[in-house]
Amino acid sequence: MSAYIIDGKVIAAQIREELKAEVANLKQKNIVPGLGVILVGADPASISYVTAKEKACEEIGIYSEDNRLPADTSEKDLLALVGRMNNNPKINGILVQLPLPKHIDEQKVLLAIDPAKDVDGFHPMNVGKMVVGDKAFLPCTPHGVVQMLLRTLGVNLDGAEVVIVGRSNIVGKPLANMLIQKSKTGNATVTVCHTRTKDIKAHTLRADIVIAAAGRPNTITADMVKDGAVVIDVGVNRIEDATKKSGFRLVGDCDFDAIKEKASAITPVPGGVGPMTITMLLYNTVESAKNANNLL
Ligand code: NAP
Repeated sequence: MSAYIIDGKVIAAQIREELKAEVANLKQKNIVPGLGVILVGADPASISYVTAKEKACEEIGIYSEDNRLPADTSEKDLLALVGRMNNNPKINGILVQLPLPKHIDEQKVLLAIDPAKDVDGFHPMNVGKMVVGDKAFLPCTPHGVVQMLLRTLGVNLDGAEVVIVGRSNIVGKPLANMLIQKSKTGNATVTVCHTRTKDIKAHTLRADIVIAAAGRPNTITADMVKDGAVVIDVGVNRIEDATKKSGFRLVGDCDFDAIKEKASAITPVPGGVGPMTITMLLYNTVESAKNANNLL
């Protein structure tokens, strides 16, 4: 039996419709959520991410302020801009597109963002709050994964065995933390695998839910997945493909074609987790605007 394909575009569109209605409601109270975007340099991938984020804001009625700075911008000038955004009441969320040029200390810049406007959820204050289960901005990609699981019929997180492959600060670690919370969006039993794990297959084979976030094609193959498992593929990898005009195509970390014959549900790449990430950034920006106006 072929797996149900979890369509990230459909789930993201549902959440964006919900947000659009919330933004319209806030506008009646003269509140317009605002996202301040900072891009330093002209990396083509970063330009396309930032453009997509700004377009998404526009679509649901969020104000976005675009700050594109030259690659030789000094750390001092960048910190000053972050400071101005921290104090600007029109801005509820600050997004500094990473990576930053080498001469700028990324950590210093992220720490300078007011935690109340840290819609990426990377500030240690928000990370700490998430770990102890307090209300916090949740990092967008792992939050998107949790929302996909919650909104897919037949998936039950409560008591589920979840195996995550990848332990980065932006995906694996926060996702593990979210899924073990004592709440209706958690309550799973989570194992986190990485490059030093002795036998990844031994773990993934007993998982009800496998989440791949390694950044390497074919990290998860069909023989590593039990019948009926749910598979979420966070990975995005470029592989050469002479049949494509660009010369490459995007694949995830999972052997999609083989696994879909064994799993009960699986996300594709592209069109799976990807569309959820920007959506959760919009969600955090709307939450921040509500919080700033004592509406939470
Ligand atoms: P990362 O910082 O490179 O971390 C990768 C993690 O995977 C590390 O913990 C690494 O282990 C582990 N790993 C790598 N190869 C492995 C293997 N063969 N077996 C077991 N573990 C392995 O990457 P990331 O930022 O978390 O991103 C992961 C993937 O998700 C990438 O493809 C990225 O492009 C994608 N991504 C997608 C979205 C989206 O919106 N769809 C957002 C963010 C990231 P060690 O710690 O031991 O090195």
